[in-house]
Amino acid sequence: SGSSPDDTVYKIATDTTFAPFEFQDSSGNYVGIDIEILEAISEDQGFKYELNPLGFNAAVAALESNQSDAVIAGMSITEKRELVYDFSAPYYDSGVVMAVSASNEAIKKYEDLDGKKVAVKVGTEGATFAESIQDTYDFELVYFDESPFMYEDVITGNSVACFEDYPVMGYGISQGNGLKMVTEMEKGSSYGFAVLKDKNTELLEMFNTGLVNIKENGKYKEIIDKYISVE
Ligand code: GLN
Repeated sequence: SGSSPDDTVYKIATDTTFAPFEFQDSSGNYVGIDIEILEAISEDQGFKYELNPLGFNAAVAALESNQSDAVIAGMSITEKRELVYDFSAPYYDSGVVMAVSASNEAIKKYEDLDGKKVAVKVGTEGATFAESIQDTYDFELVYFDESPFMYEDVITGNSVACFEDYPVMGYGISQGNGLKMVTEMEKGSSYGFAVLKDKNTELLEMFNTGLVNIKENGKYKEIIDKYISVE
């Protein structure tokens, strides 16, 4: 009793390493598009929060078990998830793409995956897409909790390919992660800020209002331009 909405410190879960949306800078501070959008919106709307970088699947699980109030983690707004979560307005467009080691000349299309191992990240849209074509192209799936471990499996040659979100893979390649994209992007969903269905409705409303405001005042564009350069 005696608590006013102003005392609320929302627990907001995020991924651990999903650059340029969330990652640690050289001092160990969390930075990235999601982190800065959340910060700008909280300032605009005057709410407090604690950021919990848990990993993608763990962040979603924390939301599900009421240990987090919301997730911002490059989380795709899918029809299936909309049954369980309420999403904000979309704040970034995405899609899924296949990547292979930069030196790999053998794997160029899904047909080339026949009998091979393919790395995916637990609970993601990339994993769901790979699962949906697995029977057709007859490959084996290897699951990882974090994007960097998934890339590492491809670099070391255990897996021949991985499926990742296009903006994340594009950024990683530009940073020299040792991979390359070999297929067209599959149509994917846009990213949204998620709360449990019919819970934290006030927080979701503040996020949506703040998103409109930071788009209007130029802050949103400033954040995107800081991390993503259009060539
Ligand atoms: N956008 C993907 C999804 O929502 C991946 C998110 C992530 O790995 N952080 O499933």
